[in-house]
Formats: sequence, structure tokens, C-alpha cells
Amino acid sequence: YKIIRLRDISRDTALKELKGEFVSIAAHQLRTPLAAIKWSFEIALGGIQPGTDAHVAAERGHESTLRMLDLVNSLLDVDRIESSRFDYRFQKTDLGLITQEYVDRTIKEKALLHGVRIIYSFESSTPAFISGDHEKLTLVLQNLLENGLKYTQQGGQVRATIHSSNDKVTLEIADTGIGIPLSEQTHLFEKFYRADNAKRLVANGSGLGLYIVKNIVESHGGSISFKSEEGRGTTFTVSFPAWKE
Ligand code: ADP
Repeated sequence: YKIIRLRDISRDTALKELKGEFVSIAAHQLRTPLAAIKWSFEIALGGIQPGTDAHVAAERGHESTLRMLDLVNSLLDVDRIESSRFDYRFQKTDLGLITQEYVDRTIKEKALLHGVRIIYSFESSTPAFISGDHEKLTLVLQNLLENGLKYTQQGGQVRATIHSSNDKVTLEIADTGIGIPLSEQTHLFEKFYRADNAKRLVANGSGLGLYIVKNIVESHGGSISFKSEEGRGTTFTVSFPAWKE
């Protein structure tokens, strides 16, 4: 009996590994053609008269390609996380500065298009230094801020706040959006999980963002939590140990 069980387990593991390998190879193979399609749409958009049907079609094609690239990149990140190949380069990083830069350079424009107000505030007297990987922290900011926008209706607001003390640095991202139904809150950080109200509002989404975010935050020795009320909004709180000289 024991031997049969053992054999089942190893077959299970082998199957999981095979599936992981399949996803990883497929995602890698998709990156190059997707990059080529994206480039082609960009060239085409430059040469087509704006306002024409052809321009609208090329724009849609471009957006869909960007979404596919995002999905493929997320799948590759998940694969790297699960095979312990998600490499980190930690250095002294000002979380306040990179948050402000990300808001100014990337999120402000998206918020404007989406009709949502974005506010950044820094609430402390000491700089927000942590031991961090700049690129990975940018992924955290991207996911949390874009979710804030995506799940907040026009006229709403997303606020990013940094608090810094001697021993910890906290980033809070609060929105006035659709919120998360109480019964679904326990599943939020699971791979591929999307709440029903989110699926109704935005059909596109992978449910991989928060899984990746939690992993990155914990690899920094930090923690992530959230408070949410359906129909009123959501606040994500991410805490990191402060930089020690
Ligand atoms: P995606 O946004 O692609 O669906 P994520 O992993 O980023 O995937 O988020 C998982 C789910 O968590 C979302 O589908 C949504 O149900 C919920 N969620 C995340 N952020 C918010 C938010 N700011 N407001 C409401 N729901 C959210």
C-alpha cells in the first residue's frame, strides 16, 4: 500500500514539473513573435491616418498585443518564482522616491485616461530607505497601482502614501473602487484567482499579479495585507524592514 502511494506521489510531481516546463517553454516561444507583432502595429499606426477605421483597428491590435505580452511576462515570472530562479539584487533603495517617480512617469497619464484622481503623499521626516531590488519593487508598484485604477470607476481616487520610521517603511495604496467581496477575500493571493465583481467589471485579467507581488514583498522580508469593503474601496498595506547602515 505504501509503495503504491509513493509511486502516485512521484507521478504527481513529475506531471507538475512537466506542466511547469510546458508553460515556461510556451511563454518563452511566444515572446519573440509578440514583440514582432507589437513593433508592426507601432509602425502601422505611424503611417495610418488617425480617426480612420484602419487606425482604430491597428490601435486595438496594439493594445491586445500589449496585454498578451503582459500575460506572457507574468507567466514567466511565476515560473521563475516556482523554480527559485527569480533572482534579486538588493541595494539601498528609497521606496518613497521610486514610488513618486512611478506615479509621475507612468500612473498619472493612465489615471487621466481612466478618469481617476491619483495622489501621492510622503508622510514622515526620515527618508524611506529599504534593502530592495528596484526592478522587482517596480513590479509591485505597477500591479498595486494599476489594480487601484482598474477596479475604480471614473470619478474615483487612488492614493499612494509612504510612512517611514526607524524600523519600518510602509506603502499604502488606497482606492475608492469596487472593493472585494468578503467571502472571496481569503483567496486573493492565490494564483489565477479573480473575484466575481472584478471579472464583471474588467473581463481581462490573469489573476497572477497579486501572487507575484506577495512573493516579491516576502522575498524582501516584508509583509502585505489589505482591508476592503465591497462597493467602497480597498487599501493594500505593504511593510518592509527599514534600511540599517
Ligand atoms: P488581475 O487584476 O489580473 O485580475 P491580480 O492578481 O492583480 O489579478 O488581482 C487578483 C484579484 O484581486 C482581482 O481579480 C480582483 O478580484 C482583486 N483585486 C486586486 N486589487 C483590487 C482592488 N484594488 N480593488 C478591488 N479588487 C482588487
